Amino acid sequence: MSQTKYIFVTGGVSSSLGKGIIAASLAKLLQVRGHKVTIQKLDPYINVDPGTLNPYEHGECYVTDDGAETDLDLGHYERFLNVPTSQANNVTTGRIYQSVIQKERRGEFLGKTVQVVPHITNEIKERIQILGNCGEYDIVITEIGGTVGDIESLPYIEAVRQMKWELGDDHSMVIHLTLIPYLSAAGELKTKPTQHSVKTLMESGLKADVLVCRTEHELSDDLRRKLALFCNVKQEAVIQSIDASTIYDVPNLMLEEKLDAVVLRQFNLPVEENVDLTAWNGFLKKHKNPKNTITIGLIGKYVELQDSYKSILEAFIHAGAANEVKVKVESIHSEYLDSSNVADKVKHLDGVLVAPGFGERGIEGKIKAVQYARENKIPFLGICLGMQMAVIEYSRNVLGLKDAISIEQDESAVNPVINLMEEQKDVTDKGGTMRLGAWKCALEKGSNVYDAYQEDEILERHRHRYEYNNEYKKQLEAAGLLTTGTNPKTGLVEIVEVKDHPWFVGVQYHPEYKSTVLKPHPLFVAFVKAALNYSKN
Ligand code: GLN
Repeated sequence: MSQTKYIFVTGGVSSSLGKGIIAASLAKLLQVRGHKVTIQKLDPYINVDPGTLNPYEHGECYVTDDGAETDLDLGHYERFLNVPTSQANNVTTGRIYQSVIQKERRGEFLGKTVQVVPHITNEIKERIQILGNCGEYDIVITEIGGTVGDIESLPYIEAVRQMKWELGDDHSMVIHLTLIPYLSAAGELKTKPTQHSVKTLMESGLKADVLVCRTEHELSDDLRRKLALFCNVKQEAVIQSIDASTIYDVPNLMLEEKLDAVVLRQFNLPVEENVDLTAWNGFLKKHKNPKNTITIGLIGKYVELQDSYKSILEAFIHAGAANEVKVKVESIHSEYLDSSNVADKVKHLDGVLVAPGFGERGIEGKIKAVQYARENKIPFLGICLGMQMAVIEYSRNVLGLKDAISIEQDESAVNPVINLMEEQKDVTDKGGTMRLGAWKCALEKGSNVYDAYQEDEILERHRHRYEYNNEYKKQLEAAGLLTTGTNPKTGLVEIVEVKDHPWFVGVQYHPEYKSTVLKPHPLFVAFVKAALNYSKN
């Protein structure tokens, strides 16, 4: 019998209640209590992964070391736990069906009729148990995307029901996250929607063991008792999750509510008094008591939706705390940026970040922002497409190649300073085909990036098809655009810096994915520091 304990997190009443943050906060508490924990997200949509989704649809696509394009909740898991996730941590309905259909084509079902139950549900169970059986974790938390009652969640709920039956209550549990709305006209918190969503779970044969109740007002003892009685859970298992000023407060709030203790008791595991959140609280203290404020411009084309740049925004929170400074991020839409307004929009900033992205829209605005930051010596960080824009800007305005552009924007470019990578030339499928995941990069001593990392070689995560065109390297370097990081095997240029500039860095990789609360990313820390110095002059 498996020793691994499984926690399933479901959601009811409404989406966007923060299942990912609750799962990550619980995992954090269990981790500081000495358990090895991982978190997995099951997404009930048919895309094989979120890599093909527009950020407006589903927020940022998060990338793991092993090159999985995943849901942004995995970013929260890593930021809270400081432990990398992998391909196995995010599974979609598309992936499940793809795998079952491939097995069917190989004849693995031996002539049977292939059905949702048992074939799809078995595949789901296997995907959950991969993490439990790999020997690395004592506790696996599986978050089920969507809301109970959705048609597409049904196979997942059935898989969980079966696992609970097989494993028993001391090895598996369901935490149901729900909303307790406040009706201001009645001056009351309402429990009925929660009762109904618990009932919906029960119709599928699944009983909630714990209720985590999102609320804007404190839950009274009476209300907790009522919820416990009508939803069939212990009173201690009614957990209040009150709105917090920062997501990083949630582990402390869950500790106060004893969510971790309720879980451990159900699993017959010891509940020691001492929970050591010293390092975590050290971060929170700095985050909440900044000594200075700086403003960074985030130049991107998906700025209407905060979730599109989630990891970047969180990386600034971590790096801000490390520097004891509040980083105000001002979103600037690259599509509406041009020569006539760039000074107005950029001159008051202490730092400029040009965001990752794809396609043509908003490109010229990004190039204008790069130029302004370079010429006015404002600290600059370009990430992925942002780095490519920096190379184009330098080629155009310093080298004098007025028509410099990326092949991504102009397939018949005369001066393609950014080129399609060789191995991408025959690729036709869009999903999962970019240069993905962690690749090495060797750093030049004496550069700003070397200063930041203090390492000769780094490993950073990637997601791109285009690259710096080495045919222009000699000219660009001679003109002052230095190459300070390269892939040691292929020579692919990973980092550029402007020579006569206090801090101008463009990186082909995505540093934001690796920033965590306890390990703020060195490049973001250095960028914020440079912006702080700039703000003081
Ligand atoms: N579109 C660019 C490429 O594919 C940059 C990608 C990105 O910013 N993630 O190379």
